[in-house]
Amino acid sequence: MDNCLFCKIAEKKIPSTIVYEDDDLLAFKDINPAAPVHLLVIPKKHYATLSACTADDAPLLGKMLALAPKLAAEFGCGVQYGADGEPSGGYKTLINSGPDGGQEVYHLHMHIIGGPHPWRGQR
Ligand code: 5GP
Ligand code: ZN
Repeated sequence: MDNCLFCKIAEKKIPSTIVYEDDDLLAFKDINPAAPVHLLVIPKKHYATLSACTADDAPLLGKMLALAPKLAAEFGCGVQYGADGEPSGGYKTLINSGPDGGQEVYHLHMHIIGGPHPWRGQR
């Protein structure tokens, strides 16, 4: 897509701090992090929003989602269980879709937001 910021990041025409890459996906650090860990996972193929996806895209969407716990663990915010069985750590996975969903960049992306609280606007 011409003039799409995240297509340009995927094509390395605009620099970003890349943390993961394979044939289908790219993950990089958000330029304006809302929390100590704030990563974005995008498909290399352009989809304007999640609403542009169909059932045929389920494997790609599943791959995006399955990457979240792997990257969260790598960046120190994975979910862990203590000897008492209590969970600690953790992160949010978020896909904003459309104006009312708070989407600003129209290339499908999943936020991975984690790290010790407080985060911007959250406890
Ligand atoms: P949205 O609101 O569309 O779900 O999120 C867009 C995200 O992209 C925001 O968190 C914003 O900080 C991030 N972002 C916008 N422009 C750039 C950029 O040029 N590079 C990087 N790494 N992140 C960006
Ligand atoms: Zn794009």
